[in-house]
Amino acid sequence: MLELAKEQIAMGQTAADKAEALRLLADRLVTDGLVADGYLQGLQAREAQGSTFLGQGIAIPHGTPQTRDLVYATGVRLLQFPEGVDWGDGQMVYLAIGIAARSDEHLRLLQLLTRALGETDLAEALRRASSAEALLKLLQGAPQALALDAQLVGLNLPAEDFDELAWRGARLLQRADCVDSGFAAVLQQAEPLPLGEGLWWLHSERQVRQPGLAFVTPQQPLRYRDQPLNGLFCLASLGAAHQALLERLCEVLIEGRGQTLYQATSSRAVLEVLGGEAPPDWPCARVVLANPHGLHARPAKVLAQLAKAFEGDIRVRLADSAQPAVSVKSLSKLLSLGARRGQVLELLAEPAVAADALPALLAAIEQGLGEEVEPLPQGTSAEPEAAPEVVQAPPAGSRIQGVGAAPGIASGPAHVCVEREFDYPLRGESCTQERQKLRDALAVVSSELQALVQRSDKAIGEIFVTHQEMLADPALTDDVEQRLAQGESAAAAWMAVIEAAARQQEALHDALLAERAADLRDVGRRVLAQLCGVQAQVEPEQPYVLVMTEVGPSDVARLDPGRVAGIVTAQGGATAHSAIVARALGIPAVVGAGTAILLLQSGTPLLLDGQRGTVSVAPPADELQRALAERDQREQRLQAAWASRFEPAVTRDGHAVEVFANIGESTGIAKVVDQGAEGVGLLRTELIFMAHPQAPDVATQEAEYRRVLDGLDGRPLVVRTLDVGGDKPLPYWPIAAEENPFLGVRGVRLTLQRPHVMEDQLRALLRAADQRPLRIMFPMVGQVHEWREARAMVERLRAEIPVADLQLGIMVEVPSAALLAPQLAREVDFFSIGTNDLTQYTLAIDRGHPSLSAQADGLHPAVLSLIDMTVRAAHAHGKWVGVCGELAADPQAVAVLLGLDVDELSVAARSIAEVKALVRQADHQTARALAREALQQDSAAAVRALVERY
Ligand code: PEP
Ligand code: MG
Repeated sequence: MLELAKEQIAMGQTAADKAEALRLLADRLVTDGLVADGYLQGLQAREAQGSTFLGQGIAIPHGTPQTRDLVYATGVRLLQFPEGVDWGDGQMVYLAIGIAARSDEHLRLLQLLTRALGETDLAEALRRASSAEALLKLLQGAPQALALDAQLVGLNLPAEDFDELAWRGARLLQRADCVDSGFAAVLQQAEPLPLGEGLWWLHSERQVRQPGLAFVTPQQPLRYRDQPLNGLFCLASLGAAHQALLERLCEVLIEGRGQTLYQATSSRAVLEVLGGEAPPDWPCARVVLANPHGLHARPAKVLAQLAKAFEGDIRVRLADSAQPAVSVKSLSKLLSLGARRGQVLELLAEPAVAADALPALLAAIEQGLGEEVEPLPQGTSAEPEAAPEVVQAPPAGSRIQGVGAAPGIASGPAHVCVEREFDYPLRGESCTQERQKLRDALAVVSSELQALVQRSDKAIGEIFVTHQEMLADPALTDDVEQRLAQGESAAAAWMAVIEAAARQQEALHDALLAERAADLRDVGRRVLAQLCGVQAQVEPEQPYVLVMTEVGPSDVARLDPGRVAGIVTAQGGATAHSAIVARALGIPAVVGAGTAILLLQSGTPLLLDGQRGTVSVAPPADELQRALAERDQREQRLQAAWASRFEPAVTRDGHAVEVFANIGESTGIAKVVDQGAEGVGLLRTELIFMAHPQAPDVATQEAEYRRVLDGLDGRPLVVRTLDVGGDKPLPYWPIAAEENPFLGVRGVRLTLQRPHVMEDQLRALLRAADQRPLRIMFPMVGQVHEWREARAMVERLRAEIPVADLQLGIMVEVPSAALLAPQLAREVDFFSIGTNDLTQYTLAIDRGHPSLSAQADGLHPAVLSLIDMTVRAAHAHGKWVGVCGELAADPQAVAVLLGLDVDELSVAARSIAEVKALVRQADHQTARALAREALQQDSAAAVRALVERY
């Protein structure tokens, strides 16, 4: 990535001429390891083809295609020549920017520079700049202008209240690339400002990429805070970009002309009042840019020259982008487009010159503007993509290797659930006919739902009852009716209303309402399928194997464990949500089986082994029989395990480990104890937070924690402080967008930045403890100082709220924590190893990655080594170690973890009996030998094969 930084700048250079300046630059690029020797010839050759003088005292020397192989790393180096260097034709250069780039990356640089190039007397300022910082500031140029164009104006939008209107404004800003997706949430928290005449103003500086203003008006008269709501401005604020607009708006309001805005019938009218970028109503033409390196300086120069031959105004923009059209005659403006090969340029010309100018410019662009161009493939408007791989359904008799996500063997017909695309007309035949179609569809779906209610158990039946209520909601049908009256088809009207309602629910940022949004879409699609004459897939009568892309938490609510024998997903890994959920429900599951599985015909017999991670398609009878016999044996084993679930987990040679439960809610603790838990090894408190519509206060939290401690009746409780960020967002706690949230402000880093949140939580925990054994641990600790800061906070509060039996520890989820275990072990009371994240960070595989997460196996010897180091360090200081990641419940991993001398295993409550039984079958000394051998293996697969042999 090409970015400008002060370290790249060398000030006060001198060069007698251009040749010497190029030599200096090449030396610098070579010394800094960006290019190989010989790049100078590239710079010289490029200048020979045409000067790289850009204007405003800047030149951008770069290599030729022939010298691209000499580039080791993309980068730039800048030399300031205060005395100037003649770059030919009397053009003086005060700043030479040497570029090392293999492809069209320098377009990005040009884009960065062009804001500065618009400044009138930059050359002189560059010459005089006395420091690298000052020079950089000059290059970064003028502040970004406020975006305000037709796509940011939304008139007569269907909105039921202020929040929905604000949400619509935020959407416009997001679509125009002004803000990130979290902006809508941020805006909901901003304080609305009444401007008079029913106009309102909302603004925020958070999640803003470029300043922009959206103006939205509601379709029907609305009121807000006892005042009319005729229109709403939503500002994505950055610097002072909106100053001029604000002044103009004040004038409009002082003159009492507010209605020219909210009564406007076209975006053009609004933009004329506000002085925004009204698209000229000129003839236009589009062309795909085919130049291999996009519209870089040379072709742009040619285009600008050509355009200058015409008298009138000619502009160009990237089609379908948020950027306004710029003058084709300005080289710097052309470069600011950053146009790449494959992108579509839209040219607009004043009517007086359009007939001549547009065909001439179009032809020149098609011919490459002086460069050789390879034609783009027919019909493309983007870089040609690699031909898609042809995926076919796996044939009968084949066996697919996925990832074992929930143990158990299951067989049954496949029930493939893939979301379908529906085609439907936007306009209807007649209002009466469309109304009738919709009524018929609603009646059919309603009776389908009734059948589902009767067939399902209470909890799942309730979901379908809610769906029935949604269908009968008069607010929905009224809205649909309005649309039908305007000539929309039943399908279009229905889906528009469903989508608007679902979005409205989502905009409220309440976990429960967000689920309702999923429900609305679900039932909406059922009706749509009916309207489009598509038969809904019939759920097989006998237990079936559910095949899906990925099973999300909302799908799970609908799963009936009595009917779903097994789950196979195309994507995901062992620590993906679908896997965790399947384990909690006790349904055998294989995840990450690949997309081909989605092409299976529903009804194809499947056999899956959730332990080994295999799926057999239409297996031969003998294989099926063997597997079913194994399943029966397993069931017997599980029954026996269940019967002795309250017995301690002690190996045959007398080594005891504790088996605890992982939980995420305070209710149901009695059931967890009844499943054999000797304590709770991981209370994921963020799940408790998520179950509340807003951050629970100290008293609410205390009640939650107290409930768990009461239920545990003297057994230990290990609580993890709030673990938010990365894959765990908290709807009412917006976190600034980050390029890479998994490596960003998350876990303890985040709570240390917001100490009042952590203090509230710790206070609630200490108050709830009384005399009971409470262990507190901090998530995602990667540095010793993080642990110390967190501990200090507890110590401070402890002076205020005494607790009798408290231990403090950390989760080991980041490799650095394991590597620092010897230092940390001196200070902590315990470690709990979160193998889900530890595996993710050790193997550099996103645990939710659709295709890679299957390889994120905690039995990888690299992860085992880190566990080994942690345990050794802890034991050397007399501290205990637990494992609370999913690995602890993996039957193949139990013996290995035992052998690594882990003291506690914390698993989903459903797995407790089985894990205890596995411990009882094991021999500690043998397990230790197994673990030593496992550490010597070179892959997770080799470790698994080793375990099978033991
Ligand atoms: C882990 O990372 O292993 C862990 C237990 O925490 P979570 O799965 O909640 O990130
Ligand atoms: Mg974790």
